[in-house]
Amino acid sequence: MSRQREKGTVEDRLSLDVRALRRRGVLVVGGRGTWQWVRSGKQAGQVCFEVVAADCLRLRYRIATETGAELKDYRVTIVRTPCYLGGSRAWFLCPCCSRRVALLYLRDLFACRQCHRLNYASQQASKASAALDRSLLLRRAVGANEGPLMLGADWIERPKGMHRQKFAARLEQIKKADARAMDAYRAVLERS
Ligand SMILES: [Zn+2]
Repeated sequence: MSRQREKGTVEDRLSLDVRALRRRGVLVVGGRGTWQWVRSGKQAGQVCFEVVAADCLRLRYRIATETGAELKDYRVTIVRTPCYLGGSRAWFLCPCCSRRVALLYLRDLFACRQCHRLNYASQQASKASAALDRSLLLRRAVGANEGPLMLGADWIERPKGMHRQKFAARLEQIKKADARAMDAYRAVLERS
């Protein structure tokens, strides 16, 4: 498993647990505070939260951007479902898909596990299609019109008049682009 894929796993992300908020006794109107995450003894992030209505949690936090920091400030809906033995259970509605979940994971925005997975898959898919485009472009330059699934790079024939060394260098580029595209596609398939 490559480093990049490790970085993409949802489980590595900071998560906000509605049950933990409830245990802390802050899931009542007016409840507020700061939620902090610690990783390996260091603070990994924090969000300010406030229960502004029975069904509404306001979140505020900063995320690092290329130009500095950006303040995020938005609301997440809380719903409650009755329990068998009385009382109720609280859930977040994912801000992205409105699915009922106990855990939201942070990237730039909080979202459920499923949404982060889909997001990751679509990033991989666009990486794959960029690599595939590059492969097709390189292939066309040596007179091959088929992509890596139809025609393995080793089967591409050297065009008449192209120097052997130049052809070998082109073939290396094609193989790299093919490998990147296939890796990205595999990542999409394994996670879907
Ligand atoms: Zn979601």
